[in-house]
Amino acid sequence: MRPFCTLTGRMQCAPTVNMTDIPFSPADVAPCLLAWYGQSGRDLPWRNTRDPYRIWLSEIMLQQTTVTAVIDYYHRFLAKIPTVEHLAAASLEDVIDLWAGLGYYSRARNLHAAAKLIVEQFNGHFPEDVETLQQLPGVGRSTAGAISALAFDRRAPILDGNVRRVLCRLFALQKPPRSTAAEKQLWYWSEQLTPSESVHDYTQAIMDLGAMVCIPLKPLCHECPLSELCQARKLGLERQLPLKHVAKPIPTRHEVVLLIDHHGRYLVRRRLVEGFLGGMWEFPTISIPEGEAPESKLHLLCSDFGLNGAVEQIGHSQHVYSHFRLKSAIYCKKIANLSRLAEGDNHWFPLAELKNIALHGAHKKVLVELQKSGV
Ligand code: SF4
Repeated sequence: MRPFCTLTGRMQCAPTVNMTDIPFSPADVAPCLLAWYGQSGRDLPWRNTRDPYRIWLSEIMLQQTTVTAVIDYYHRFLAKIPTVEHLAAASLEDVIDLWAGLGYYSRARNLHAAAKLIVEQFNGHFPEDVETLQQLPGVGRSTAGAISALAFDRRAPILDGNVRRVLCRLFALQKPPRSTAAEKQLWYWSEQLTPSESVHDYTQAIMDLGAMVCIPLKPLCHECPLSELCQARKLGLERQLPLKHVAKPIPTRHEVVLLIDHHGRYLVRRRLVEGFLGGMWEFPTISIPEGEAPESKLHLLCSDFGLNGAVEQIGHSQHVYSHFRLKSAIYCKKIANLSRLAEGDNHWFPLAELKNIALHGAHKKVLVELQKSGV
Protein backbone atom coordinates (compact mmCIF):
# COMPACT_ATOMS: atom_id res chain seq x y z
CA MET A 1 0.00 0.00 0.00
CA ARG A 2 1.27 3.47 -0.84
CA PRO A 3 1.86 5.82 2.11
CA PHE A 4 -0.37 8.80 2.95
CA CYS A 5 0.98 12.20 2.01
CA THR A 6 1.82 14.20 5.13
CA LEU A 7 0.70 17.40 3.41
CA THR A 8 -2.65 16.50 1.89
CA GLY A 9 -3.66 13.42 3.87
CA ARG A 10 -4.23 11.80 0.47
CA MET A 11 -2.56 8.66 -0.80
CA GLN A 12 -0.18 8.79 -3.73
CA CYS A 13 2.12 11.32 -2.22
CA ALA A 14 5.06 11.53 -4.63
CA PRO A 15 8.28 10.14 -3.22
CA THR A 16 11.28 12.46 -3.19
CA VAL A 17 12.40 12.72 -6.76
CA ASN A 18 15.73 12.44 -8.49
CA MET A 19 16.36 13.97 -11.86
CA THR A 20 15.72 10.63 -13.54
CA ASP A 21 12.17 10.52 -12.07
CA ILE A 22 11.15 13.87 -13.58
CA PRO A 23 8.87 13.60 -16.58
CA PHE A 24 10.45 16.55 -18.36
CA SER A 25 13.82 17.30 -19.73
CA PRO A 26 15.89 19.87 -17.78
CA ALA A 27 16.71 21.39 -21.16
CA ASP A 28 13.01 22.39 -21.56
CA VAL A 29 13.14 24.80 -18.64
CA ALA A 30 15.57 27.50 -19.87
CA PRO A 31 13.77 28.18 -23.22
CA CYS A 32 10.40 28.59 -21.43
CA LEU A 33 11.95 30.91 -18.86
CA LEU A 34 13.89 32.97 -21.38
CA ALA A 35 10.81 33.51 -23.59
CA TRP A 36 8.82 34.64 -20.55
CA TYR A 37 11.66 36.87 -19.31
CA GLY A 38 11.84 38.61 -22.69
CA GLN A 39 8.21 39.69 -22.24
CA SER A 40 7.83 40.06 -18.48
CA GLY A 41 11.25 40.45 -16.79
CA ARG A 42 11.75 43.37 -14.39
CA ASP A 43 13.66 46.47 -15.32
CA LEU A 44 15.87 47.07 -12.28
CA PRO A 45 18.73 49.56 -11.85
CA TRP A 46 21.38 46.82 -11.56
CA ARG A 47 20.11 45.00 -14.63
CA ASN A 48 21.69 47.24 -17.24
CA THR A 49 25.26 46.76 -16.16
CA ARG A 50 27.91 44.07 -16.25
CA ASP A 51 30.01 45.90 -13.68
CA PRO A 52 30.74 43.24 -11.03
CA TYR A 53 30.95 45.89 -8.29
CA ARG A 54 27.38 47.06 -8.94
CA ILE A 55 26.09 43.51 -9.33
CA TRP A 56 27.81 42.40 -6.13
CA LEU A 57 26.45 45.41 -4.24
CA SER A 58 22.90 44.73 -5.44
CA GLU A 59 23.17 41.02 -4.61
CA ILE A 60 24.35 41.75 -1.08
CA MET A 61 21.68 44.40 -0.52
CA LEU A 62 18.97 42.06 -1.83
CA GLN A 63 19.82 39.34 0.70
CA GLN A 64 16.92 39.38 3.23
CA THR A 65 15.59 42.65 1.74
CA THR A 66 12.97 43.45 -0.90
CA VAL A 67 13.73 45.12 -4.22
CA THR A 68 11.54 48.11 -3.31
CA ALA A 69 13.49 48.72 -0.10
CA VAL A 70 16.86 48.33 -1.85
CA ILE A 71 16.53 50.68 -4.86
CA ASP A 72 17.07 54.00 -3.01
CA TYR A 73 19.89 52.57 -0.91
CA TYR A 74 21.58 51.22 -4.02
CA HIS A 75 21.57 54.63 -5.73
CA ARG A 76 22.64 56.47 -2.56
CA PHE A 77 25.47 54.03 -1.90
CA LEU A 78 26.82 54.29 -5.45
CA ALA A 79 26.59 58.08 -5.43
CA LYS A 80 28.93 58.16 -2.40
CA ILE A 81 30.99 55.03 -3.07
CA PRO A 82 31.08 54.45 -6.83
CA THR A 83 33.83 51.80 -7.10
CA VAL A 84 35.38 48.97 -5.17
CA GLU A 85 38.49 51.14 -4.64
CA HIS A 86 36.37 53.85 -3.03
CA LEU A 87 34.73 51.23 -0.81
CA ALA A 88 38.08 49.81 0.30
CA ALA A 89 39.26 53.32 1.19
CA ALA A 90 36.08 54.31 3.08
CA SER A 91 35.82 53.95 6.86
CA LEU A 92 33.62 51.16 8.19
CA GLU A 93 31.64 53.76 10.13
CA ASP A 94 30.79 55.59 6.88
CA VAL A 95 29.70 52.35 5.23
CA ILE A 96 27.52 51.42 8.22
CA ASP A 97 25.95 54.88 8.21
CA LEU A 98 25.06 54.49 4.52
CA TRP A 99 23.52 51.14 5.37
CA ALA A 100 21.42 52.63 8.21
CA GLY A 101 17.86 51.33 8.02
CA LEU A 102 18.59 48.46 5.63
CA GLY A 103 19.21 46.00 8.47
CA TYR A 104 21.44 42.90 8.67
CA TYR A 105 24.51 45.06 9.15
CA SER A 106 26.94 42.17 8.96
CA ARG A 107 26.38 42.55 5.21
CA ALA A 108 27.88 46.05 5.33
CA ARG A 109 30.84 44.88 7.40
CA ASN A 110 31.50 41.98 5.03
CA LEU A 111 31.15 44.23 2.00
CA HIS A 112 33.79 46.54 3.40
CA ALA A 113 36.16 43.69 4.29
CA ALA A 114 35.67 42.07 0.86
CA ALA A 115 36.43 45.36 -0.94
CA LYS A 116 39.75 45.61 0.90
CA LEU A 117 40.57 42.05 -0.12
CA ILE A 118 39.67 42.68 -3.78
CA VAL A 119 41.89 45.75 -3.87
CA GLU A 120 44.79 44.24 -1.93
CA GLN A 121 44.82 40.71 -3.33
CA PHE A 122 43.18 41.03 -6.75
CA ASN A 123 44.42 44.47 -7.68
CA GLY A 124 40.86 45.81 -7.78
CA HIS A 125 39.64 43.15 -10.27
CA PHE A 126 36.77 40.90 -9.26
CA PRO A 127 37.45 37.20 -9.55
CA GLU A 128 35.19 35.59 -12.18
CA ASP A 129 34.88 32.03 -10.91
CA VAL A 130 32.59 30.83 -8.16
CA GLU A 131 35.31 29.17 -6.08
CA THR A 132 37.42 32.33 -5.78
CA LEU A 133 34.40 34.60 -5.32
CA GLN A 134 33.33 32.44 -2.38
CA GLN A 135 36.53 33.35 -0.56
CA LEU A 136 35.25 36.91 -0.17
CA PRO A 137 33.59 37.69 3.18
CA GLY A 138 29.79 37.55 2.92
CA VAL A 139 29.81 35.80 -0.45
CA GLY A 140 28.24 32.36 -0.27
CA ARG A 141 27.83 29.89 -3.10
CA SER A 142 24.62 31.43 -4.46
CA THR A 143 25.88 35.03 -4.39
CA ALA A 144 29.12 33.88 -6.03
CA GLY A 145 27.06 32.12 -8.70
CA ALA A 146 24.97 35.25 -9.29
CA ILE A 147 28.05 37.49 -9.69
CA SER A 148 29.75 34.99 -11.96
CA ALA A 149 26.63 34.54 -14.13
CA LEU A 150 25.45 38.15 -14.21
CA ALA A 151 28.77 39.95 -14.57
CA PHE A 152 30.75 37.40 -16.56
CA ASP A 153 28.03 35.25 -18.17
CA ARG A 154 29.66 32.13 -16.75
CA ARG A 155 27.59 29.00 -16.29
CA ALA A 156 27.09 29.13 -12.53
CA PRO A 157 23.98 27.86 -10.71
CA ILE A 158 22.35 29.94 -8.00
CA LEU A 159 20.06 29.05 -5.10
CA ASP A 160 18.73 32.20 -3.49
CA GLY A 161 15.39 32.27 -1.66
CA ASN A 162 13.35 32.81 -4.80
CA VAL A 163 15.07 30.09 -6.81
CA ARG A 164 14.87 27.69 -3.88
CA ARG A 165 11.08 28.13 -3.77
CA VAL A 166 10.71 27.65 -7.54
CA LEU A 167 12.77 24.46 -7.48
CA CYS A 168 11.01 23.03 -4.42
CA ARG A 169 7.74 23.39 -6.33
CA LEU A 170 8.94 22.53 -9.80
CA PHE A 171 10.31 19.22 -8.50
CA ALA A 172 7.75 18.82 -5.67
CA LEU A 173 10.46 18.48 -3.05
CA GLN A 174 8.87 17.12 0.11
CA LYS A 175 11.75 17.54 2.52
CA PRO A 176 12.45 20.53 4.78
CA PRO A 177 14.32 22.69 2.23
CA ARG A 178 17.11 23.61 4.65
CA SER A 179 18.01 20.01 5.44
CA THR A 180 21.37 18.79 4.18
CA ALA A 181 19.76 16.25 1.87
CA ALA A 182 17.42 18.85 0.39
CA GLU A 183 20.23 21.35 -0.02
CA LYS A 184 22.25 18.83 -2.02
CA GLN A 185 19.28 17.93 -4.16
CA LEU A 186 18.36 21.56 -4.85
CA TRP A 187 21.88 22.48 -5.90
CA TYR A 188 21.95 19.47 -8.19
CA TRP A 189 18.71 20.54 -9.84
CA SER A 190 19.82 24.15 -10.11
CA GLU A 191 22.98 23.00 -11.85
CA GLN A 192 21.06 20.74 -14.21
CA LEU A 193 18.68 23.51 -15.25
CA THR A 194 21.33 26.21 -15.81
CA PRO A 195 21.97 26.43 -19.55
CA SER A 196 25.40 26.86 -21.13
CA GLU A 197 24.29 29.91 -23.10
CA SER A 198 22.32 33.04 -22.12
CA VAL A 199 23.29 32.37 -18.52
CA HIS A 200 22.96 36.04 -17.63
CA ASP A 201 19.33 36.23 -18.80
CA TYR A 202 18.43 32.78 -17.49
CA THR A 203 19.68 33.74 -14.01
CA GLN A 204 17.63 36.94 -14.02
CA ALA A 205 14.65 35.01 -15.37
CA ILE A 206 14.54 32.36 -12.67
CA MET A 207 15.02 35.02 -9.97
CA ASP A 208 12.16 37.04 -11.47
CA LEU A 209 9.90 34.02 -11.69
CA GLY A 210 10.32 33.44 -7.95
CA ALA A 211 9.81 37.12 -7.15
CA MET A 212 6.83 37.78 -9.45
CA VAL A 213 4.99 34.52 -10.18
CA CYS A 214 6.09 31.64 -7.98
CA ILE A 215 5.51 33.82 -4.91
CA PRO A 216 5.40 32.48 -1.35
CA LEU A 217 1.75 32.08 -0.34
CA LYS A 218 -0.35 31.99 -3.50
CA PRO A 219 1.77 31.27 -6.57
CA LEU A 220 0.28 32.63 -9.80
CA CYS A 221 0.46 29.30 -11.61
CA HIS A 222 -1.88 30.41 -14.42
CA GLU A 223 0.78 32.99 -15.44
CA CYS A 224 3.73 30.65 -15.04
CA PRO A 225 5.83 29.61 -18.04
CA LEU A 226 6.70 26.38 -16.22
CA SER A 227 3.17 25.35 -15.25
CA GLU A 228 3.10 22.44 -17.71
CA LEU A 229 6.28 21.05 -16.16
CA CYS A 230 5.60 21.80 -12.53
CA GLN A 231 5.30 18.73 -10.31
CA ALA A 232 3.81 20.60 -7.33
CA ARG A 233 1.01 21.90 -9.57
CA LYS A 234 0.38 18.39 -10.87
CA LEU A 235 0.04 17.11 -7.30
CA GLY A 236 -1.97 20.11 -6.09
CA LEU A 237 0.82 20.98 -3.64
CA GLU A 238 1.86 24.39 -4.96
CA ARG A 239 0.61 26.20 -1.85
CA GLN A 240 2.01 23.65 0.61
CA LEU A 241 5.53 23.61 -0.78
CA PRO A 242 8.22 24.38 0.18
CA LEU A 243 7.73 22.66 3.54
CA LYS A 244 8.08 25.04 6.47
CA HIS A 245 11.43 25.45 8.18
CA VAL A 246 11.17 24.60 11.89
CA ALA A 247 13.33 27.06 13.81
CA LYS A 248 15.57 25.75 16.61
CA PRO A 249 14.91 27.18 20.10
CA ILE A 250 17.29 30.01 21.03
CA PRO A 251 18.38 31.36 24.45
CA THR A 252 17.11 34.62 25.95
CA ARG A 253 19.47 37.35 27.18
CA HIS A 254 18.49 40.37 29.26
CA GLU A 255 19.82 43.93 29.43
CA VAL A 256 19.09 47.31 30.95
CA VAL A 257 19.02 50.25 28.55
CA LEU A 258 19.49 53.77 29.87
CA LEU A 259 18.17 56.66 27.76
CA ILE A 260 20.00 59.77 28.88
CA ASP A 261 17.95 62.78 27.82
CA HIS A 262 19.57 66.22 27.68
CA HIS A 263 16.82 68.62 26.60
CA GLY A 264 15.46 66.23 23.97
CA ARG A 265 18.84 64.95 22.75
CA TYR A 266 19.82 61.37 23.59
CA LEU A 267 23.20 59.85 24.25
CA VAL A 268 24.36 57.06 21.92
CA ARG A 269 27.71 55.38 21.34
CA ARG A 270 29.24 53.31 18.58
CA ARG A 271 29.87 49.66 19.32
CA LEU A 272 33.44 48.53 18.82
CA VAL A 273 34.10 47.81 15.16
CA GLU A 274 35.34 44.29 15.97
CA GLY A 275 32.70 41.84 17.14
CA PHE A 276 28.95 41.39 17.07
CA LEU A 277 27.07 44.41 15.58
CA GLY A 278 30.44 46.15 15.23
CA GLY A 279 30.33 49.84 14.27
CA MET A 280 26.61 50.22 14.98
CA TRP A 281 25.07 52.77 17.33
CA GLU A 282 23.43 51.92 20.62
CA PHE A 283 22.10 53.51 23.80
CA PRO A 284 24.05 52.89 27.02
CA THR A 285 23.37 49.34 28.14
CA ILE A 286 24.42 46.65 30.60
CA SER A 287 23.64 42.92 30.63
CA ILE A 288 21.61 41.38 33.43
CA PRO A 289 22.44 37.83 34.52
CA GLU A 290 19.55 35.34 34.19
CA GLY A 291 17.13 35.64 37.12
CA GLU A 292 18.36 39.04 38.39
CA ALA A 293 16.13 42.14 38.55
CA PRO A 294 17.07 45.06 36.22
CA GLU A 295 17.52 47.36 39.23
CA SER A 296 20.49 45.26 40.33
CA LYS A 297 22.50 46.58 37.38
CA LEU A 298 20.77 49.90 36.73
CA HIS A 299 22.68 51.72 39.46
CA LEU A 300 26.00 50.47 38.03
CA LEU A 301 25.10 51.81 34.62
CA CYS A 302 24.05 55.15 36.15
CA SER A 303 27.26 55.45 38.11
CA ASP A 304 29.32 54.75 34.93
CA PHE A 305 27.91 58.04 33.65
CA GLY A 306 28.12 59.83 37.02
CA LEU A 307 24.34 60.00 37.35
CA ASN A 308 22.42 60.07 40.65
CA GLY A 309 18.78 60.41 41.61
CA ALA A 310 15.50 59.18 40.18
CA VAL A 311 15.37 57.20 36.96
CA GLU A 312 12.07 56.58 35.20
CA GLN A 313 11.17 53.19 33.79
CA ILE A 314 9.48 53.61 30.42
CA GLY A 315 8.90 50.07 29.20
CA HIS A 316 10.29 46.87 27.75
CA SER A 317 11.17 45.66 24.31
CA GLN A 318 12.29 42.45 22.72
CA HIS A 319 14.29 41.64 19.61
CA VAL A 320 15.25 38.31 18.09
CA TYR A 321 18.68 37.87 16.56
CA SER A 322 19.55 34.67 14.71
CA HIS A 323 21.13 33.01 17.75
CA PHE A 324 19.48 34.66 20.78
CA ARG A 325 16.53 36.75 21.91
CA LEU A 326 17.32 40.02 23.69
CA LYS A 327 14.88 41.46 26.23
CA SER A 328 15.51 45.09 27.18
CA ALA A 329 14.25 46.86 30.30
CA ILE A 330 14.23 50.55 29.35
CA TYR A 331 14.86 53.46 31.71
CA CYS A 332 15.14 57.17 31.10
CA LYS A 333 17.16 59.78 32.99
CA LYS A 334 16.74 63.48 32.23
CA ILE A 335 19.80 65.64 32.84
CA ALA A 336 20.15 69.41 32.91
CA ASN A 337 23.92 69.69 32.40
CA LEU A 338 26.18 67.68 30.15
CA SER A 339 29.35 68.17 32.24
CA ARG A 340 31.69 65.23 31.45
CA LEU A 341 29.08 63.49 29.29
CA ALA A 342 29.90 65.97 26.52
CA GLU A 343 33.26 64.25 26.06
CA GLY A 344 34.73 61.02 24.72
CA ASP A 345 32.71 58.54 22.69
CA ASN A 346 29.39 60.09 23.62
CA HIS A 347 27.25 61.46 20.77
CA TRP A 348 23.96 63.27 21.15
CA PHE A 349 21.07 63.07 18.70
CA PRO A 350 17.61 64.64 18.83
CA LEU A 351 14.74 62.14 18.92
CA ALA A 352 13.77 62.85 15.29
CA GLU A 353 17.28 62.01 14.05
CA LEU A 354 17.71 58.76 15.95
CA LYS A 355 15.68 56.87 13.37
CA ASN A 356 18.18 57.86 10.67
CA ILE A 357 21.30 56.47 12.34
CA ALA A 358 22.42 52.84 12.29
CA LEU A 359 21.02 51.79 15.66
CA HIS A 360 21.14 48.01 15.94
CA GLY A 361 17.84 46.12 15.75
CA ALA A 362 17.21 45.74 19.49
CA HIS A 363 17.74 49.45 20.10
CA LYS A 364 15.52 50.42 17.18
CA LYS A 365 12.77 48.73 19.18
CA VAL A 366 13.90 50.64 22.28
CA LEU A 367 13.51 53.81 20.22
CA VAL A 368 9.94 52.82 19.34
CA GLU A 369 9.18 52.43 23.05
CA LEU A 370 10.74 55.81 23.76
CA GLN A 371 8.56 57.44 21.08
CA LYS A 372 5.45 55.72 22.44
CA SER A 373 6.22 56.79 26.02
CA GLY A 374 6.18 60.52 25.20
CA VAL A 375 8.71 61.28 27.99
S1 SF4 B 1 3.36 26.32 -11.74
FE1 SF4 B 1 2.98 27.47 -9.91
S2 SF4 B 1 4.07 26.39 -8.28
FE2 SF4 B 1 4.82 25.64 -10.24
S3 SF4 B 1 6.67 26.85 -10.62
FE3 SF4 B 1 4.95 27.87 -11.64
S4 SF4 B 1 4.14 29.35 -10.16
FE4 SF4 B 1 5.49 27.93 -9.07
